[in-house]
Formats: sequence, C-alpha cells, structure tokens
Amino acid sequence: MLSELEKRQAEMNATSQANCGRGILFVVSSPSGGGKGTLIERVLNKVPNLSYSVSFTTRAPRNGEIDGREYFFVTTEKFEQMIAANEFLEWAHVHSKLYGTARQQVFLEISEGRDIILEVDVQGAASIRALMADAVSIFILPPSFEILRQRLQSRGTDSPEELELRLRNAPTEVNHYAAFQYVIFNDDADRAAQQMAAIVHAERARLSRQESQVKQVVEAFTAKQLGNSNSNL
Ligand code: 5GP
Repeated sequence: MLSELEKRQAEMNATSQANCGRGILFVVSSPSGGGKGTLIERVLNKVPNLSYSVSFTTRAPRNGEIDGREYFFVTTEKFEQMIAANEFLEWAHVHSKLYGTARQQVFLEISEGRDIILEVDVQGAASIRALMADAVSIFILPPSFEILRQRLQSRGTDSPEELELRLRNAPTEVNHYAAFQYVIFNDDADRAAQQMAAIVHAERARLSRQESQVKQVVEAFTAKQLGNSNSNL
C-alpha cells in the first residue's frame, strides 16, 4: 500500500519523465518582507518561458492586491474543501493563515515544458523537495533583521499584530537556509534579481535537464562522420 507521499512522488516523477524533465520547478522562500515578490517579478520580466504559480490563501487581500494575480483569496471553508479534494501539491499554516500551491497549475506548466516559480514558506519548500528531488530551491536572505523590520514597516500593509507575528517568525524561517541549494542576499534588488535569473539560466543548461536533446545533436554529428567515412571508401 503506497503512502500519500509515495503516491504524490510517483505522480510528480511521471509528469517530469513525460516531459523529459524540461519543466523545472523553482522553489523560492524567504521571511515575509524579504523582498521575494519584487525579485520574482523582475525575473519573470527578464527570463522567457518562465511562469509563476499563484497560490491560494485564506488571508485578506492587502491594498492593491488583486484576486488571481498575487493570490487566489478564498475562505477557510473553501480552502479546507480543496485540501479534502487533494487539489494542493502542498499547503501550510503560515502566520496563522492557510497558504497552498494548486497541483493542477503546476502540472500544466511543467507538462508543457515551461519552468515555474513557486513562492512558498520554508514548510512548503520542504514538502516540494520531498515530492520532487530535482526541484531547485532558492532562499532569499534579507541582509539583517533591522532591514527586514524597516521593509515590513515601510510596506505599511500589515496591522501591528501581523507585523509583530511576521517579525517573531523571521528568525526561525532564516534558520532553514541550509536546506536550500542557493542563497541570494537581497541587499540590492537589481543585483539579487540578476543572480536569480542567472540561477534559472544555469539550471536550464544542466546536462541532466537536456540530455535527450544533446544526444540527438551528437548522434547527428556521428551520423555525419559515418557518412563522410563511407564516402571516403
Ligand atoms: P504573505 O502573506 O506575506 O504574502 O505570505 C506569507 C508567507 O506565506 C510567505 O512566506 C510566503 O512565501 C508564504 N506562501 C505564499 N504562498 C504559499 C504557498 O502556496 N504555500 C506555502 N507553503 N507558503 C506560501
């Protein structure tokens, strides 16, 4: 009898084999206010064939946030129905609210060979790593606690209680850095975005991700060589 995790792993592996491993999952985490939203936006504007997974959440929209763009904002009841219907690839309680990644959206993107960025908390990143060994994980580290506090305060979108909760959780979150493959210091948004785009490009160039394409090209070289040596006979 397969456990739920084993079933999900088999499902993910089948998807990634079906598309020859072309669609890469990038998992990006940082404490709230770490600047990952801005970085991801810049990278999406810079790098072609890259999409973003819009999560579901039970938290209320902030000023300027649009349903379906930053998040799909749903009630706790709806979220729980989605959990029961197994619609989430992962979900977690974060800062007393529920957040989750829609399974269907991710499958669709990677099965069409598009790379996708998932912006999740450290629990979500751990769940994705357990499901998909070849997911690429990136941690965005704010340069200091003080700068994080200033960013959260100047954002001005959180109530004093929410701000306090986010700051209280930040030290625990940053302590998960070692579980990630890449760490980007977010001291300068331009530099940090360039670094994230470079990671995407470098991961795309890995042999393991383009082996079948490489083989085809190399086989064509070999066929040419054989053709040449036959004509020399
Ligand atoms: P915020 O409310 O500030 O937008 O996000 C709070 C936290 O929830 C952030 O750490 C963010 O990365 C995380 N988060 C956003 N979407 C998801 C998701 O789909 N799954 C998980 N596990 N965390 C998420």
